[in-house]
Amino acid sequence: LVSRKRQQDDTLIHLGPATIGGGKPILIAGPCSVESVEQVRTVAAALQSRGVTVMRGGAFKPRTSPYDFQGLGLEGLRILKEVGDEFGLQTISEIVDPAHIEIAGQYIDVIQIGARNMHNFELLKAAGEVRIPILLKRGLSATIDEFLHAAEYILSRGNTQVMLIERGIRTYERATRNTLDISAVPILKQESHLPVLVDVTHSTGRKDIFAPCAKAALAAGADGIMVEVHPNPAIALSDAQQQLTIEEFNQFYTVIQQSGLF
Ligand code: PEP
Ligand code: MN
Repeated sequence: LVSRKRQQDDTLIHLGPATIGGGKPILIAGPCSVESVEQVRTVAAALQSRGVTVMRGGAFKPRTSPYDFQGLGLEGLRILKEVGDEFGLQTISEIVDPAHIEIAGQYIDVIQIGARNMHNFELLKAAGEVRIPILLKRGLSATIDEFLHAAEYILSRGNTQVMLIERGIRTYERATRNTLDISAVPILKQESHLPVLVDVTHSTGRKDIFAPCAKAALAAGADGIMVEVHPNPAIALSDAQQQLTIEEFNQFYTVIQQSGLF
């Protein structure tokens, strides 16, 4: 079902005023984790002033250490809804438990399935049962074929609104957090009709190269970019090293806009 051979036309995902796939690229931005109403409101205001219409924010955080901040859970989704409604933004958040897939639709506009859960087949099946868009991240060490099969799980249950997002894969290279697989973009676009996005934050883990990597992704044909923004990254409860300040976000946005690719 995900194959371009089966469907030639690009799948389009309508999110409020934006359409993802087959046209103008989208920018999705927001904090790594939802921490407070004030924090999310500050980011939302910055996004709104640049015309960004989709905001991300993690509520259920898959952390490497059980002692690290695990996210605000349902309260985080509630905050996203409140702020999203206030600023007229569409919202995205990761869901990690199949039991939460159904209820998530009451709070958010897009369900993210994270890299660590790309192989969680019960979660993929549950995501296939609902009718809200899914943002599926490539697994930490997943091949392109495995990535497309994960998407197939969702489509096979009837949910055709799936977006793929390359977020870097694990290699021997330590100069970046993961290795951004740019070649995955044109390959996925050729093999599938689903929208393909690139997460510059988790792939590179380096703010100093977000802009060139975002330009490379757009030049390679990506339908959108995702980037993390926090009012005060130094005190962020997750990914403190790799979230943009509001000022850095504005600079990033200007560079991308001036590239003519966006
Ligand atoms: C995220 O986007 O919040 C996240 C945890 O990313 P990933 O699943 O790609 O590591
Ligand atoms: Mn993050």
